[in-house]
Amino acid sequence: MKCAYCGRELAGEGTYCSERCRKRGEAATHLAARTRIPFWIVTALAGALLLLGIVFWAAGALDKAFWFIGGAAALEGLILVVLPRGKGGANTFCQIIGGVLFALGVICIILWR
Ligand SMILES: [Zn+2]
Repeated sequence: MKCAYCGRELAGEGTYCSERCRKRGEAATHLAARTRIPFWIVTALAGALLLLGIVFWAAGALDKAFWFIGGAAALEGLILVVLPRGKGGANTFCQIIGGVLFALGVICIILWR
């Protein structure tokens, strides 16, 4: 067994290695449950923007396409930073990916405004 929060090997039975991990792990689980719906709404919005971008791309309107694709990346990046998915290390990884996506998206919007 591994601790569900920090990933350390567990000596005995249980989900968490310590009281501290149990508290933090449960708080993270509650937060994930509470933020699931807003997270998926924003992800769906970003998906719609991305689709619009692809439609503009196919139509040959590359300026508009980059703007929408950039907007989608910035939106999804922002939500990954604000409401990261996963626990412990995965959470940080999510936020790094989100930050990179957000930066790329903003660059796209600025360049193809
Ligand atoms: Zn732990």
